[in-house]
Amino acid sequence: MLFKILPKEEFRALVEMILEANEVIAPKAIATNARGERIHQFLPIRSFEEMDLEYKSTEYSAKTYFLPYRENLCTFEFEGEDWQQSIQYYIQPRAIIGLRAHDINALLKLDKVFIRDRFPSPYYISRRKNTFIVGLDHIPEEDEFSRSMGTHIVTHGFDLFLTDLSDRYFVAINSDRAFSLLQKVKTRDVADADTHAYLEVRRRIRDGFKTHIEVHSLPNVLDLEFTSKVWTKWGEKCLNCGSCAAVCPTCYCYGVTEEVTMDFKKATKVKQLYSCNLVDFARVAGGHDFRSDKEARLKYRYYHQYRGFLEDYGEPKCVGCNRCGRVCLAGIKPAAVIKDLYEESV
Ligand code: SF4
Ligand code: SF4
Repeated sequence: MLFKILPKEEFRALVEMILEANEVIAPKAIATNARGERIHQFLPIRSFEEMDLEYKSTEYSAKTYFLPYRENLCTFEFEGEDWQQSIQYYIQPRAIIGLRAHDINALLKLDKVFIRDRFPSPYYISRRKNTFIVGLDHIPEEDEFSRSMGTHIVTHGFDLFLTDLSDRYFVAINSDRAFSLLQKVKTRDVADADTHAYLEVRRRIRDGFKTHIEVHSLPNVLDLEFTSKVWTKWGEKCLNCGSCAAVCPTCYCYGVTEEVTMDFKKATKVKQLYSCNLVDFARVAGGHDFRSDKEARLKYRYYHQYRGFLEDYGEPKCVGCNRCGRVCLAGIKPAAVIKDLYEESV
């Protein structure tokens, strides 16, 4: 990896160059909450001013730009005995600016499923390959536990990664296209003072975490506590709304339906993201439901995050952003559930 120093005044020129050639997605303030704090979402921007890099977190992750909640996989047209299939992949160049390290790590986990596993998704790949990613370091939110998940640091999966050093950015360059782009603005080599300032910021980030979860023996604890009352306690609270999976940067469960027009001349195959907490998640033809109680559905979401994914891909699926904990109206938070499990097992 190469490193450079980018003066803050040059950052604007860099963003404007990216805007010229790409659809740009960035954190944007959309409202304020009851405490008067700004609420941000990753949304398309058309100018530098629309972007707000001082954001704390976004309610939704940027997952939707790679895995839309609903997408047409293909359409069919029938004519007599004949039929035509048409498939469109996303190819318009796109850039996402301001992604946190844990959100880039979330994309790396999705890459394992949709690029490197047995059934790669051309839809996901086309979006991922056509998206230029500019990451940004941040001081963690109080309820974030990405340090516990090892996702507060990211070393690949982006084009540029910026660390704010007050009047300048410490920039990690991770792709040829990022290197070429930086040739068009004024940068300079990293001096010792920059390295010291960078390491100081990294130290503040590391020490800024207030929420920690124990993950080293978590897969075993989950196995030991499979029938624990902890699942009843939290499962009873669950409203089956599915919001946790909707906001999660790594939840990717989906269903596929085929919609046929009344005249049988056209059909569309539609993929829609789903949540394992929804009441009909495991209902199959004939009406049998493999997870009819909400306790089981909640439990299996946790098993996929911290147990099943680890077995398949060698790491947990959760990146510790706590978006699910913040959005849950029933107050179900991973840190609290996992703490209960450990206490139960002791
Ligand atoms: S957001 Fe909370 S209440 Fe809704 S499905 Fe998830 S755990 Fe249950
Ligand atoms: S904290 Fe919640 S929303 Fe964030 S990655 Fe983990 S399970 Fe998903």
